[in-house]
Amino acid sequence: MPTACIGIGSNLGDRLQNCRKALKLLEQRGIRIKAVSGAHVTKPWGGREVAGQPDFINMAAVVETDLAPMKLLQTLFQVENEMGRVRVRKWGPRIIDLDILLYGGEIIDQPGLKVPHPLMHEREFVLMPLAEIAPEAVHPVFKKTVRQLLEELSV
Ligand code: AMP
Repeated sequence: MPTACIGIGSNLGDRLQNCRKALKLLEQRGIRIKAVSGAHVTKPWGGREVAGQPDFINMAAVVETDLAPMKLLQTLFQVENEMGRVRVRKWGPRIIDLDILLYGGEIIDQPGLKVPHPLMHEREFVLMPLAEIAPEAVHPVFKKTVRQLLEELSV
């Protein structure tokens, strides 16, 4: 069964609880949670637009799923919607944000879905939690492990 890595973030309400609830809802939809990182408190990202917003809690999960990548993304959207996420503005505060970071070793570039997530290699708040649970996962574009990408960020 394909393995995927999911990024989870929240900066509204009970942030830790929101992340945990998202995992539970994914599990209820048949996605097998194989590993979950610790919770990392991180500053909002996105320049001026995010000034004054609460810090995020970010986590990562390794999952197994039979869902094809687009179906998996739709399931992430369903969970976001069920949890009441309202897309007010691009960098606005969010009760939950779920991203596909990696899907096996696949490279996907289609409207609405890019895998690996196009910014994951630049974002410490994505790589840190992921490195806890999948340090040897390989980014298929850069052909580097998550551990290497994280190390390179801090140079
Ligand atoms: P966000 O507002 O950060 O949740 O971004 C969601 C948008 O990014 C949606 O329109 C998705 O179709 C798109 N998207 C592209 N690639 C991905 C991905 N790997 N994971 C999640 N969303 C993605």
